[in-house]
Amino acid sequence: MTSVPNITLNNGIEIPQLGFGVYQVTPQDTKDATLRACEIGYRHIDTAQMYGNEKGVGEAVRESGLDRADVFVTSKLNNGFHQPDDALKAFDTSLESLGFDYLDLFLIHWPLPGIDVDFVDTWGALEQIYASGQAKSIGVSNFQPAHLRRVVQEGTVPPAVNQIEVHPYLTQDDVRAANTENGVATEAWSPIAQGLVLDDPVITSIASTHGKTPAQVVLRWHLQRGDIVFPKSVTPERVKENFE
Ligand code: NAD
Repeated sequence: MTSVPNITLNNGIEIPQLGFGVYQVTPQDTKDATLRACEIGYRHIDTAQMYGNEKGVGEAVRESGLDRADVFVTSKLNNGFHQPDDALKAFDTSLESLGFDYLDLFLIHWPLPGIDVDFVDTWGALEQIYASGQAKSIGVSNFQPAHLRRVVQEGTVPPAVNQIEVHPYLTQDDVRAANTENGVATEAWSPIAQGLVLDDPVITSIASTHGKTPAQVVLRWHLQRGDIVFPKSVTPERVKENFE
């Protein structure tokens, strides 16, 4: 089986660099899609409270027969729960939906700098969750460098990751550099731009030169840049193609 490299996060925890994303996978389809991904060899699943499909992810991990410790699962705090007390409760609800007693990684989904709750206070709730051991790592998503710097300077635990949109049409050099400067790993969401980059003539030409598909070329580009990716598909052939 193809082996997926691990990335070591700033707290020493290892995360498989390639995972399976379940954004826009319906709650009904999530269990089967995730189970299939586990069978193909994926050991890292990226979900979120917002996706409404944590239950299916949890069921699939249990039915896969894999040890819980062998599958890295991420979820994210939904936007309505930034008040620290709400964040703590929402985290418990995630564990309940997943049927897990811990998460591998829990993220603030969006910084929401315009609301009346400061994301640094929300981060304090994630630090509490981290201290309890119920999330093995904590991080952020969609944070601009200024947001990230505040969390690093004012918090006590630095984020392990910043999950941001990255693909060949949005290379995010500035945010990735700020992540690196702060010791924060970059996770690249929409790594193939939801399919938008796959007809690009440069990418299709590289693919035909190397006997690979355009999606494989783009995913390899991410891996070589050192980012963590979790392409989404419910089409079995594509899930396999992306893994390969
Ligand atoms: P993606 O770039 O993974 O593209 C998924 C789409 O591309 C599929 O629906 C399918 O239409 C197509 N596709 C997939 N594999 C293909 C292949 N081999 N050949 C041709 N077409 C293929 O987009 P995404 O789902 O938006 O992003 C991946 C994951 O990132 C999500 O599932 C989610 O876990 C995460 N994400 C996070 C955020 C965030 O705000 N943190 C936002 C969006 C996505």
